[in-house]
Order: sequence, then C-alpha cells, then structure tokens
Amino acid sequence: MTAAARRPAFACPHCGTPLARTPRRGPGIPRGALQIRCPHCRYRMFDYPRLCVGFTVVRRGHLLMLVRGHEPRRGAIDLPGGFLETGEDPEAAARRELHEETGLRVGPATPLGTWWDTYDLPGFGPFPTFNWYFHAAWRSGTPRAGDDAAEAHWIPFADLGKRLLQRRFAWAHMRAVVRAVHDRAHAGRARRVYAPRS
Ligand SMILES: [Zn+2]
Repeated sequence: MTAAARRPAFACPHCGTPLARTPRRGPGIPRGALQIRCPHCRYRMFDYPRLCVGFTVVRRGHLLMLVRGHEPRRGAIDLPGGFLETGEDPEAAARRELHEETGLRVGPATPLGTWWDTYDLPGFGPFPTFNWYFHAAWRSGTPRAGDDAAEAHWIPFADLGKRLLQRRFAWAHMRAVVRAVHDRAHAGRARRVYAPRS
C-alpha cells in the first residue's frame, strides 16, 4: 500500500487534521495491522477488518460465476456475496446476498475457506476485508443477473484452470476461491476414481 493510499480521505473528528494509516506495533500484534491516527491530537481508531460472506454454488459439475455490470470493477469476474449486516448470521447473510444477486437458492452449506482482501471506499480509503465463503449445491432458480451482476454463467469445472485464472477478477481473493473450488472438484474426482470398490 502506498503512503497516499494509506491516507483516509476524512479528517480527524476531534481536531479536523487529515488522518493517516500507520502500522500498529506491540507484542503479539500481527504484521500488517494498521491504525488510523491523527498526527496532531493523537486521536486513534483501529483498522479492523469488515466481514464479507459469499457462496460458491455448484450444479452438475459447474460453478456459478458472475460478471459485474456496474462500477467498481465493471466487466470483471465476480462471485455472489457481500457485507455482513450487524447482528446477521454469516450463512444467512451469504444466502441473502446470493438470492438478491442471482435469484438462486441452495441446499445445505459447508464452509469453503476464508481469504483476506482490501475494499476501497470513496471518502474513507482502503479498509481490510475478511471474506468467508460457503459451498453448496444448487437447489432452485435459474440464475438471473440482479443487483451488481450483469451476467451469470455456469462454468464447467474443467474450465476453472489456468486460462480462467488469468482473467480479471473483481477482487484479488476471488482467484484463490475459484482455485479452491477447482482443487476440491479435482480431489473429489480423484476420490471417486481411486476409492476401493465395496
Ligand atoms: Zn486530531
């Protein structure tokens, strides 16, 4: 992150001086932890992450992928998901976002994994996001683009390899999410092939 990108666009609520993002230091504080600090009055807020939730939806050997219809990242590959509302259950939030964006409903979900990323909010600057994905099989609905998405596609697992991963993703972590689905599909195939017959 450049020094300019580290500077939030808003001013200190206490004295009006422009704020700066600076590394936090101290015993046990992980590398990369930041604080937003006023250089004048020492006002400080911690740059804690916001939780985002999403779904990887599969149907008969295909993964649901979206293409963004609006800025930011118009035209980039996207996955259904969004920010968790305060007080909301993470899996319920992921189902809500999926339904809002595509009209789809899915069966029982399992956690796929978590990935870090950054979201740039005009007027605030970049803030860290913690992206939690659930994995489930399609249950009902025909994917239709809604909300932010312009297109929804079922992509065969066989096409989730190198060529697709070189395309532009809306957020960097999504490449790793798609790779995780690819690896999981591949492992599933290997299990089916090599499982001893009973
Ligand atoms: Zn201040």
